[in-house]
Amino acid sequence: MSPSILILGGGCFGLTAALELHARGWRVTLIDQGPLPHPDAASTDISKVVRMDYALDEQHTAMGELSLRRWREWNAKWGEELYHEVGFLVMSREPMQPGGFEHDSRAFLSQRGHLLRRTPPEMLRERHPAWNHTIYRDGYLNPVGGWAESGQVIARLASEARAAGVTLIENVPQPRPLFEGTRCIGITSSQQTWQADAVLVAAGAWTPELLPHLQEVMWATAQTVFHFQPQDPRPFTPPQFPVWGADIGKTGWYGFPANADGLVKVANHGPGRRVTASYPRTLPGGEEDRYRAFLRETFPTLAEAPLHSTRVCLYCDTFDGAFWIDHDPAHPNLIIAAGDSGHAFKFTPVLGELIADVVERKPNPWAKRYRCREKTAASSDGARASE
Ligand SMILES: Cc1cc2nc3c(=O)[nH]c(=O)nc-3n(C[C@H](O)[C@H](O)[C@H](O)COP(=O)(O)OP(=O)(O)OC[C@H]3O[C@@H](n4cnc5c(N)ncnc54)[C@H](O)[C@@H]3O)c2cc1C
Repeated sequence: MSPSILILGGGCFGLTAALELHARGWRVTLIDQGPLPHPDAASTDISKVVRMDYALDEQHTAMGELSLRRWREWNAKWGEELYHEVGFLVMSREPMQPGGFEHDSRAFLSQRGHLLRRTPPEMLRERHPAWNHTIYRDGYLNPVGGWAESGQVIARLASEARAAGVTLIENVPQPRPLFEGTRCIGITSSQQTWQADAVLVAAGAWTPELLPHLQEVMWATAQTVFHFQPQDPRPFTPPQFPVWGADIGKTGWYGFPANADGLVKVANHGPGRRVTASYPRTLPGGEEDRYRAFLRETFPTLAEAPLHSTRVCLYCDTFDGAFWIDHDPAHPNLIIAAGDSGHAFKFTPVLGELIADVVERKPNPWAKRYRCREKTAASSDGARASE
């Protein structure tokens, strides 16, 4: 009889693991607290940046390169473009300098043979006129990269999983891991219990609430997203307006071209606020002013665009910013795939194999970085969240 696994959570970690483990012969049941895609899941929303630009980080650059190839293959397989290769324009106010995200990404990718276009202010003004070229003085365009329609991708993966024979159980009230002593034997909810040979918890920002022994090393942080609806979205469409980062290494500001509905998404990859996943998803006071002040400086013609909607979305940050994908040493049969630290969606096409290799204890060149690890003062540098 083939081994069985229960997966708790159907975001990009859980669904890709389900598909891959099913393909490797496991009997897979995936249980989610909500419908798929869950409206509050990190993997949902209209868009996520897909890029390979990661400064000098070789592993994430390589994972990005492979993911990008696979995003294109998925578009072809699905017969629908859910990944849009519109390029990634990264600009900074100061000349690019060694040690800065823009400089190091450009240098490292160039060494690996990628052709990037340096973008001085005159070129910014000519080719990307929505930008304020008087303050953004240097940067580059990487034509390889773009954005994925994330909520649609999750819906697509869920339907692929169903079609392949994964059992998907949605809208289960408060499912949680079930233990016998320290051993994890299944999942239980107020209505039902399921048992299997292994349990994979891939519950995103909800993970530290479900497994409190992880609260020392990972936690939820709230991040805001704004969707603007300019009357004329055309100036905010590619090629003049690709996916962008504005001094992103220092400020966290990034955003997207208008989508098919004319919505322009702007977000900030910042420290966020440390919360629990059940925290009410309200915007902090003054947030719209903060966004509009940024837009007035950077994209003046977008600054007064009507606001369509906002979103508060949760990262599951780890103390050092690396994902957490491993068997739990304290709980036999329990595997964790969480700790996305706000940047995992782009890797969706490679996550399933990575997680499945960890579940099966097979060697994987990327898994070491995401192992269970001790929190030390020195290793906490990657943590971004304010308490
Ligand atoms: C504002 C924001 C912007 C981002 N932008 C980008 C970007 O541009 N590019 C990028 O690469 N990444 C981005 N990310 C990060 C990316 O979205 C996440 O890394 C990724 O989606 C995490 O996936 P996940 O499967 O771990 O979690 P989630 O997508 O949150 O999925 C977790 C699932 O677990 C389910 N669940 C929770 N509790 C339970 C329970 N008790 N029982 C059963 N199911 C449960 C939830 O319902 C949900 O379906 C962004 C994240 C946010 C919040």
